[in-house]
Amino acid sequence: MSTFKELGLKEPIIKALTDLGYESPTVIQEKAIPQIISSTTDLKAFAQTGTGKTAAFSLPILELIDTSSSNVQAIILSPTRELAVQIGNNIKDFSKYLKDVNVTTVYGGSSMEEQIRSLKRGSQIVVGTPGRTVDLINRRALKLENVKWLVLDEADEMLNMGFKDELDAVLEATPDTKQTLLFSATFPNEVESIARNYMKKPVEITSGQKNQGADSVSHEYYSVTERTRYPALKRIADLNPDIYAIIFCRTRRETQEVADNLIKDGYSADALHGDLSQGQRDSVMGKFRSKTIQILVATDVAARGLDVNELTHVLNHKLPDQIENYTHRSGRTGRAGNIGISIVLVNGKEKGKLRAIEKIIQKKFVETKVPTGKEIVQNQLMNLIDKVQATEVNESEIKEFLPSIYDKLKDLDREELIQKFVSLEFNTMLAYYENAKDLNDLSKDNSRSRDTADNMTRFFINIGRKDNLNPGKLIGLINDQNIGDKIEIGAIDILDTFSFFEIDKNYEDKTLEAFAANQPDFDGRSVNIEITKKDRSGGGGRRGGKKPFAKKDGGFGRRKSAEGSSSSDGGRKRSARPADRPDRGSADRKTGGFGRRRRER
Ligand code: AMP
Repeated sequence: MSTFKELGLKEPIIKALTDLGYESPTVIQEKAIPQIISSTTDLKAFAQTGTGKTAAFSLPILELIDTSSSNVQAIILSPTRELAVQIGNNIKDFSKYLKDVNVTTVYGGSSMEEQIRSLKRGSQIVVGTPGRTVDLINRRALKLENVKWLVLDEADEMLNMGFKDELDAVLEATPDTKQTLLFSATFPNEVESIARNYMKKPVEITSGQKNQGADSVSHEYYSVTERTRYPALKRIADLNPDIYAIIFCRTRRETQEVADNLIKDGYSADALHGDLSQGQRDSVMGKFRSKTIQILVATDVAARGLDVNELTHVLNHKLPDQIENYTHRSGRTGRAGNIGISIVLVNGKEKGKLRAIEKIIQKKFVETKVPTGKEIVQNQLMNLIDKVQATEVNESEIKEFLPSIYDKLKDLDREELIQKFVSLEFNTMLAYYENAKDLNDLSKDNSRSRDTADNMTRFFINIGRKDNLNPGKLIGLINDQNIGDKIEIGAIDILDTFSFFEIDKNYEDKTLEAFAANQPDFDGRSVNIEITKKDRSGGGGRRGGKKPFAKKDGGFGRRKSAEGSSSSDGGRKRSARPADRPDRGSADRKTGGFGRRRRER
């Protein structure tokens, strides 16, 4: 393995890399840096996210840049504003000990005037999203006639997003003498045709192992039905208490719903998709980076600019439409020397796609069973014990409380004490997963849900989301009425101002009587219920099977509601814009037409 010095980089750059903790070059850097420094031949590089590609193209440019001129010498195009900002910041970090190097990042959703002012001051390197770059070229604020390097980063993604016209326009605006550096994770026809039409006999770099991270990622799939998809997701999260993951969804609606459900169920999660404003997206990404939230539910496009190295898992709630994008997703974990797991939830129909993905990743998916309640409880228990073992005791602070605590516990022996402390944490969880069914038995799952449907009565209740009701609170309210021990609760549909729930038919009368006698109120609103028809058109799927959570707090630890009871929310108002199409980025919002190409301005 070479050093950065051996690759031909000068001291100030190496110093900056040392500050960043880059000790040795990655495979793509080892191949690209000397190639670009020593030759003006175009370059086609197979590089996935996480391989260190940003430094691979930025460092040789910084090595060669002419700081005596303030003309634009390098233009770097990237598909999203987040990625553009990240590249711009990386270049600033790499060049902090170089004198007179200026970088401007241009992208939509931010003041054009400020970007024009920055360009006027003179920048040798410009990083931009295609739409804004073309805008600035057309306004003659960005002049590319002296460009020596054109970098197309994530070329496949730019073309996926419909930026072909913009790429053509930028390619046309740059001189023939430039060196084009094309980085892409996949090479579908559209990318090959850009390479054919605009590049001259490019040198190809494909690091043998494809990706630094690829070998450290294992790929697993879980078989689910539409009914078990979400509970399976929760069980995977529950099995891994220290999970730090991105859950990928295909559409904005799917993303928002999964995130809403996870949040309602008490998980540390949030959503990231193109319907959010730039400010909201920055805030969510910031929370995720700082690990204030553990689970980010995101569309492919929105997650692009997010640079985190420590993801434990990538979860594919649904597979991407274009299977090539799977590698972008899975490449987010197993980075920077860490080990990662990429998980796919597939129903019978989707399973076929796995074979095609295996061909691309050149690895086999391992079939994995959805964890049982017992496995989860066991894992959480061991995790707790590990934490107890690792806990440091702050003796000076607790000293004054200890004598009275010792006194209170003096009659308990060691075993009893351990049992009590463990039970304190675990009784609720044990109750939650008690009787939890095996989600792997899909045929049984389906038939049982049909059986149970006939045994349930559906009730209307006059409170809803606007009253701060959620499934957990509704279960708590029902339990508070003392209708019966371990009463079985079925589907719950929380709507804005009212809701529905199902109760074991045998408890139909008792439920009516209990609510009438107790006349409960909820957040100051008096509550009443009525039996309603068994029409589930306004609600989500069946939630059959005994609920393992006849407890008022509805769950253990941070989970607020019970498994399977998450608000399916089928009655939610549908937005006028078809958010259930694949997320093509936030710019759709501005053009108003969904089917139209993304325009990032
Ligand atoms: P990229 O593929 O450019 O998005 O880089 C992925 C991550 O790897 C980023 O967080 C970089 O800061 C980091 N990185 C890139 N090159 C190196 C290196 N040679 N040593 C350590 N970390 C690196």
